[in-house]
Amino acid sequence: MMEVRRTYKYRLYRSDKRDKHLHHQINFAGMVWNHALKLQKHYYHLTGKYIALGVLKAHIAKLRMKTVRFAFWQTLGAQAVQDVLERLDTGYQRFFKHLAKRPPKYKKVRERKSFTLKQTGWKLLDGNKIQISGRIYKFVRHRPLQGDIKTLTIKRDAVQRLWLYFSVSEQANLPKETTSSQVAGFDFGLKTFLTDHTGKPHVSGLHHRHALRRLRTLQARKDKKPHGSNNRRKAAKLISRAHIRIADQRRDAHYKLAHELCDRYDVLCFEDLNIAAMKALWGRKVSDLAFSQFLNILKYVASTRGKTVVQIGRWEPTTGKCSCCGYLQKMELRERTFHCGGCGRVLDRDHNAAMNIYDAGASAYTNREVVSRVPPKTRRLVLS
Ligand SMILES: [Zn+2]
Repeated sequence: MMEVRRTYKYRLYRSDKRDKHLHHQINFAGMVWNHALKLQKHYYHLTGKYIALGVLKAHIAKLRMKTVRFAFWQTLGAQAVQDVLERLDTGYQRFFKHLAKRPPKYKKVRERKSFTLKQTGWKLLDGNKIQISGRIYKFVRHRPLQGDIKTLTIKRDAVQRLWLYFSVSEQANLPKETTSSQVAGFDFGLKTFLTDHTGKPHVSGLHHRHALRRLRTLQARKDKKPHGSNNRRKAAKLISRAHIRIADQRRDAHYKLAHELCDRYDVLCFEDLNIAAMKALWGRKVSDLAFSQFLNILKYVASTRGKTVVQIGRWEPTTGKCSCCGYLQKMELRERTFHCGGCGRVLDRDHNAAMNIYDAGASAYTNREVVSRVPPKTRRLVLS
């Protein structure tokens, strides 16, 4: 048995009468964020110091409970307020430790996406009902909710729909690692999503290319409408909806591909991703292809099926090394084919890299040099 953190996502039924209360609460969370941030900046300006989390919490609690001006913050539960302050503090701590480039920023209240409750302020009722801050809402309970619920986050998406995210801790019985070892090596690429060591391409989510064409059409339509008009707002909503659809399709495609690969292989070797470097080389498209999202889904699927994902180190040469004789040479980004200067072998660039990843991964796996089972970041894994 092993503890697994998971997030279950459910859609709330629309109710114009009640939804506004949740939207207000999300807005209030945004106001608390901006207010606390202003305090931090002001205090730093005056004293050069940072307000400790506990002090800030006590101060905001006093404003909520003792002043008329901020009494409306009581609508947002005490835990939700504390959660906002904790997130702000985390943002600052990351900045202090040089893990983030910039300190937290002011955010437009209507762009605030969520608020989070811990154990109080909500209650699951019979069937598909839930009580949040004293009001009853219905949600689409399309899959059973299991495990020990740690937090509930109420989120709104770009088209103002409301969702429940339950973060749970589950005791899962993960299967033992399979011992028969069908090993495979894979290289991520721009042209082909994945190429395996046999040279076989695996595409994922590129069917949304036509969705991208539709996005451009929608964008052009929106640009024609006058600023501030109702029609422009409607056009913007269509764009948001198209974006959500693309993201959904991509996630589905990733799950499908992950299961396909786990059907065929037991040990799956990849390069350790350096997304920042990839973006610098390839530009924005990297995030469109969402390599890290796919890897995370694959690790999850693999862990539930007893398969192993091996990630070889970043320092391992993969594109510039001949998979046949080991000769090293420089490969320009636009070179699609590897012409070996040592043995004269000619091979597709990604195929050659996948073979190198296969070799490095297989030896790391047999020598147990690398942690063979990379745990998925289940916290970020949303089951919808
Ligand atoms: Zn060679």
